[in-house]
Amino acid sequence: MPMHLVRKYTGHTISAHEIAHARRQGTTAAAIATAIADTCHALAATEANLTQCAGTLATDLDEVRRALAAGPSDPTPTPNPTGRLQTHGPRLDALTAQRATHITHLRALARIWLAHHTPTTSTASQAEQMRRYAATILAAIDNDIREGTVPTGIGSYVDLHRYLDANDYLIATGVPYDVTQASIDLIAALQGLVVARLRQGDRPYCTHDTCAFPTHDHTTAYDPDGHDLSQAQPMRCRHCGQPAHYDARLDDHRHDDPATPDCFLIHRDD
Ligand SMILES: [Zn+2]
Ligand SMILES: [Zn+2]
Repeated sequence: MPMHLVRKYTGHTISAHEIAHARRQGTTAAAIATAIADTCHALAATEANLTQCAGTLATDLDEVRRALAAGPSDPTPTPNPTGRLQTHGPRLDALTAQRATHITHLRALARIWLAHHTPTTSTASQAEQMRRYAATILAAIDNDIREGTVPTGIGSYVDLHRYLDANDYLIATGVPYDVTQASIDLIAALQGLVVARLRQGDRPYCTHDTCAFPTHDHTTAYDPDGHDLSQAQPMRCRHCGQPAHYDARLDDHRHDDPATPDCFLIHRDD
Protein backbone atom coordinates (compact mmCIF):
# COMPACT_ATOMS: atom_id res chain seq x y z
CA MET A 1 0.00 0.00 0.00
CA PRO A 2 1.57 3.37 -0.99
CA MET A 3 1.11 4.84 2.52
CA HIS A 4 4.41 6.76 2.27
CA LEU A 5 2.39 9.24 0.20
CA VAL A 6 0.44 10.17 3.35
CA ARG A 7 3.66 11.15 5.08
CA LYS A 8 5.03 12.90 2.00
CA TYR A 9 1.98 15.05 1.34
CA THR A 10 0.36 15.52 4.75
CA GLY A 11 3.33 15.27 7.14
CA HIS A 12 1.43 12.70 9.22
CA THR A 13 2.33 9.07 9.63
CA ILE A 14 -0.45 6.56 9.17
CA SER A 15 0.79 3.00 8.76
CA ALA A 16 -0.68 0.32 6.53
CA HIS A 17 -1.18 -1.69 9.72
CA GLU A 18 -3.32 1.06 11.28
CA ILE A 19 -5.38 1.31 8.10
CA ALA A 20 -5.92 -2.45 7.99
CA HIS A 21 -6.88 -2.48 11.68
CA ALA A 22 -9.39 0.37 11.21
CA ARG A 23 -10.94 -1.32 8.18
CA ARG A 24 -11.74 -4.39 10.26
CA GLN A 25 -13.57 -2.29 12.85
CA GLY A 26 -16.47 -1.27 10.64
CA THR A 27 -18.20 2.09 11.33
CA THR A 28 -16.72 5.49 10.57
CA ALA A 29 -13.07 4.52 11.17
CA ALA A 30 -13.32 1.88 8.44
CA ALA A 31 -14.87 4.31 5.97
CA ILE A 32 -12.09 6.86 6.56
CA ALA A 33 -9.40 4.17 6.32
CA THR A 34 -10.84 2.90 3.02
CA ALA A 35 -11.02 6.44 1.62
CA ILE A 36 -7.37 7.08 2.60
CA ALA A 37 -6.19 3.81 1.04
CA ASP A 38 -8.19 4.46 -2.17
CA THR A 39 -6.85 8.00 -2.46
CA CYS A 40 -3.26 6.77 -1.98
CA HIS A 41 -3.74 4.20 -4.74
CA ALA A 42 -5.29 6.76 -7.09
CA LEU A 43 -2.50 9.24 -6.33
CA ALA A 44 0.18 6.59 -6.93
CA ALA A 45 -1.41 5.66 -10.29
CA THR A 46 -1.64 9.32 -11.35
CA GLU A 47 1.99 9.93 -10.38
CA ALA A 48 3.10 6.85 -12.37
CA ASN A 49 1.24 8.15 -15.47
CA LEU A 50 2.68 11.61 -14.89
CA THR A 51 6.22 10.20 -14.68
CA GLN A 52 5.71 8.39 -17.98
CA CYS A 53 4.20 11.45 -19.68
CA ALA A 54 6.99 13.75 -18.44
CA GLY A 55 9.54 11.18 -19.66
CA THR A 56 8.01 11.14 -23.15
CA LEU A 57 8.04 14.93 -23.34
CA ALA A 58 11.63 15.07 -22.04
CA THR A 59 12.73 12.60 -24.73
CA ASP A 60 11.03 14.65 -27.45
CA LEU A 61 12.61 17.89 -26.22
CA ASP A 62 15.99 16.21 -25.90
CA GLU A 63 15.73 15.04 -29.52
CA VAL A 64 15.13 18.63 -30.66
CA ARG A 65 18.11 19.80 -28.61
CA ARG A 66 20.37 17.08 -30.01
CA ALA A 67 19.26 17.76 -33.61
CA LEU A 68 20.12 21.45 -33.20
CA ALA A 69 23.44 20.84 -31.46
CA ALA A 70 24.69 18.12 -33.84
CA GLY A 71 27.87 18.93 -35.81
CA PRO A 72 28.26 18.32 -39.60
CA SER A 73 29.50 14.77 -39.19
CA ASP A 74 27.33 13.76 -36.19
CA PRO A 75 24.30 11.57 -36.63
CA THR A 76 21.33 13.99 -36.56
CA PRO A 77 18.12 12.76 -34.96
CA THR A 78 14.93 13.78 -36.74
CA PRO A 79 12.50 15.28 -34.22
CA ASN A 80 9.02 13.89 -34.64
CA PRO A 81 7.11 16.60 -36.57
CA THR A 82 3.62 15.41 -35.64
CA GLY A 83 2.83 17.78 -32.79
CA ARG A 84 4.20 15.85 -29.84
CA LEU A 85 3.64 18.69 -27.38
CA GLN A 86 0.07 19.05 -28.56
CA THR A 87 -0.44 15.36 -27.92
CA HIS A 88 1.30 15.03 -24.57
CA GLY A 89 1.19 18.59 -23.16
CA PRO A 90 -2.54 18.65 -22.34
CA ARG A 91 -2.22 15.18 -20.83
CA LEU A 92 0.59 16.42 -18.58
CA ASP A 93 -1.57 19.38 -17.51
CA ALA A 94 -4.59 17.17 -16.83
CA LEU A 95 -2.54 14.68 -14.80
CA THR A 96 -0.91 17.50 -12.82
CA ALA A 97 -4.34 18.91 -11.95
CA GLN A 98 -5.58 15.44 -11.03
CA ARG A 99 -2.57 14.93 -8.77
CA ALA A 100 -3.25 18.24 -6.99
CA THR A 101 -6.88 17.20 -6.40
CA HIS A 102 -5.79 13.85 -4.94
CA ILE A 103 -3.35 15.60 -2.59
CA THR A 104 -5.96 18.08 -1.36
CA HIS A 105 -8.35 15.20 -0.75
CA LEU A 106 -5.68 13.20 1.06
CA ARG A 107 -4.90 16.13 3.38
CA ALA A 108 -8.57 16.52 4.27
CA LEU A 109 -8.85 12.79 4.97
CA ALA A 110 -5.69 12.80 7.10
CA ARG A 111 -7.17 15.60 9.22
CA ILE A 112 -10.38 13.65 9.72
CA TRP A 113 -8.37 10.54 10.56
CA LEU A 114 -6.33 12.39 13.17
CA ALA A 115 -9.44 13.95 14.68
CA HIS A 116 -10.95 10.49 15.10
CA HIS A 117 -7.76 9.00 16.54
CA THR A 118 -6.87 11.69 19.05
CA PRO A 119 -7.27 9.94 22.38
CA THR A 120 -9.75 11.61 24.70
CA THR A 121 -9.93 10.76 28.36
CA SER A 122 -13.24 10.60 30.13
CA THR A 123 -11.89 12.88 32.85
CA ALA A 124 -10.96 15.68 30.46
CA SER A 125 -13.10 18.65 31.33
CA GLN A 126 -15.24 20.21 28.67
CA ALA A 127 -13.12 23.37 28.80
CA GLU A 128 -9.98 21.36 28.11
CA GLN A 129 -11.76 19.58 25.27
CA MET A 130 -12.84 22.94 23.81
CA ARG A 131 -9.29 24.26 24.05
CA ARG A 132 -8.07 21.21 22.17
CA TYR A 133 -10.73 21.60 19.46
CA ALA A 134 -9.85 25.27 19.07
CA ALA A 135 -6.12 24.47 18.80
CA THR A 136 -6.83 21.88 16.09
CA ILE A 137 -8.99 24.33 14.13
CA LEU A 138 -6.33 27.04 14.49
CA ALA A 139 -3.70 24.64 13.12
CA ALA A 140 -5.98 23.86 10.17
CA ILE A 141 -6.53 27.58 9.50
CA ASP A 142 -2.75 28.15 9.67
CA ASN A 143 -2.31 25.33 7.20
CA ASP A 144 -4.78 26.98 4.80
CA ILE A 145 -2.93 30.28 5.26
CA ARG A 146 0.38 28.55 4.37
CA GLU A 147 -1.26 27.10 1.27
CA GLY A 148 -2.53 30.54 0.25
CA THR A 149 -6.20 29.59 0.46
CA VAL A 150 -6.88 32.08 3.26
CA PRO A 151 -5.10 35.42 3.78
CA THR A 152 -2.74 35.95 6.71
CA GLY A 153 -4.44 38.09 9.33
CA ILE A 154 -7.95 36.72 8.86
CA GLY A 155 -9.83 37.64 12.03
CA SER A 156 -13.37 36.36 11.83
CA TYR A 157 -15.29 33.17 11.25
CA VAL A 158 -17.69 35.01 8.95
CA ASP A 159 -14.73 36.18 6.84
CA LEU A 160 -13.38 32.62 6.75
CA HIS A 161 -16.69 31.48 5.30
CA ARG A 162 -16.16 33.82 2.36
CA TYR A 163 -12.98 31.93 1.48
CA LEU A 164 -14.04 28.36 2.14
CA ASP A 165 -16.66 26.27 3.90
CA ALA A 166 -15.47 26.91 7.46
CA ASN A 167 -17.84 24.20 8.74
CA ASP A 168 -15.33 21.72 7.32
CA TYR A 169 -12.99 22.70 10.18
CA LEU A 170 -15.58 21.44 12.67
CA ILE A 171 -16.12 18.22 10.73
CA ALA A 172 -12.39 17.57 10.29
CA THR A 173 -11.80 18.23 13.98
CA GLY A 174 -14.46 15.71 14.89
CA VAL A 175 -16.59 18.19 16.88
CA PRO A 176 -19.75 16.27 17.77
CA TYR A 177 -22.89 17.74 16.26
CA ASP A 178 -26.51 16.87 16.67
CA VAL A 179 -29.40 19.31 16.46
CA THR A 180 -29.67 19.76 20.22
CA GLN A 181 -29.31 23.21 21.76
CA ALA A 182 -26.33 21.90 23.75
CA SER A 183 -24.37 21.09 20.61
CA ILE A 184 -25.37 24.40 18.95
CA ASP A 185 -24.13 26.24 22.07
CA LEU A 186 -20.90 24.25 22.10
CA ILE A 187 -20.16 25.13 18.47
CA ALA A 188 -20.95 28.82 19.04
CA ALA A 189 -18.61 28.86 22.06
CA LEU A 190 -15.91 27.04 20.12
CA GLN A 191 -16.10 29.47 17.20
CA GLY A 192 -15.93 32.33 19.70
CA LEU A 193 -12.76 30.80 21.10
CA VAL A 194 -11.23 30.48 17.63
CA VAL A 195 -12.12 34.10 16.73
CA ALA A 196 -10.65 35.37 20.02
CA ARG A 197 -7.45 33.46 19.26
CA LEU A 198 -7.32 34.85 15.69
CA ARG A 199 -7.48 38.39 17.15
CA GLN A 200 -5.13 37.80 20.08
CA GLY A 201 -2.37 40.13 18.92
CA ASP A 202 0.49 37.70 18.38
CA ARG A 203 -0.80 36.48 15.03
CA PRO A 204 1.08 37.20 11.80
CA TYR A 205 -0.67 39.48 9.31
CA CYS A 206 0.06 40.94 5.90
CA THR A 207 0.63 44.62 5.33
CA HIS A 208 1.61 46.97 2.51
CA ASP A 209 5.21 45.80 2.06
CA THR A 210 4.70 42.11 2.69
CA CYS A 211 1.35 41.17 1.16
CA ALA A 212 1.26 38.85 -1.83
CA PHE A 213 -2.34 37.80 -1.43
CA PRO A 214 -4.12 38.12 -4.79
CA THR A 215 -7.41 39.62 -3.55
CA HIS A 216 -5.77 42.17 -1.23
CA ASP A 217 -5.04 45.78 -2.12
CA HIS A 218 -3.03 47.60 0.58
CA THR A 219 -2.72 50.84 -1.38
CA THR A 220 -4.90 53.89 -1.79
CA ALA A 221 -5.04 56.55 -4.48
CA TYR A 222 -6.71 59.15 -2.20
CA ASP A 223 -5.43 61.36 0.60
CA PRO A 224 -7.34 61.60 3.92
CA ASP A 225 -9.47 64.41 2.47
CA GLY A 226 -10.53 62.28 -0.48
CA HIS A 227 -8.38 64.08 -3.08
CA ASP A 228 -6.55 62.12 -5.78
CA LEU A 229 -2.90 61.32 -5.04
CA SER A 230 -0.43 61.35 -7.90
CA GLN A 231 1.00 58.07 -6.63
CA ALA A 232 -0.69 55.22 -4.76
CA GLN A 233 0.30 55.04 -1.08
CA PRO A 234 -0.01 52.47 1.71
CA MET A 235 -3.62 52.47 2.85
CA ARG A 236 -4.60 53.55 6.36
CA CYS A 237 -8.02 53.39 7.89
CA ARG A 238 -9.61 56.79 7.37
CA HIS A 239 -11.18 56.65 10.80
CA CYS A 240 -8.60 55.22 13.20
CA GLY A 241 -5.47 55.59 11.06
CA GLN A 242 -4.36 51.96 11.40
CA PRO A 243 -2.85 50.19 8.36
CA ALA A 244 -5.68 48.73 6.31
CA HIS A 245 -6.47 47.05 3.00
CA TYR A 246 -9.31 46.33 0.63
CA ASP A 247 -10.22 42.65 0.33
CA ALA A 248 -11.88 42.03 -3.03
CA ARG A 249 -13.16 38.63 -1.92
CA LEU A 250 -14.97 40.21 1.05
CA ASP A 251 -15.79 43.31 -1.00
CA ASP A 252 -14.85 45.27 2.12
CA HIS A 253 -12.02 46.96 3.99
CA ARG A 254 -10.16 45.36 6.90
CA HIS A 255 -7.47 46.56 9.30
CA ASP A 256 -4.25 44.71 8.46
CA ASP A 257 -3.70 43.56 12.05
CA PRO A 258 -6.60 41.36 13.18
CA ALA A 259 -5.93 42.58 16.74
CA THR A 260 -6.86 46.16 15.79
CA PRO A 261 -10.23 46.84 17.39
CA ASP A 262 -13.14 47.50 15.06
CA CYS A 263 -13.71 51.20 14.50
CA PHE A 264 -16.45 53.36 13.04
CA LEU A 265 -15.48 52.48 9.45
CA ILE A 266 -14.16 48.94 9.72
CA HIS A 267 -15.98 46.22 11.58
CA ARG A 268 -16.38 42.51 11.21
CA ASP A 269 -18.95 40.00 12.25
CA ASP A 270 -17.48 37.30 14.45
ZN1 LIG B 1 -2.72 41.46 2.48
ZN1 LIG C 1 -10.18 51.78 11.63
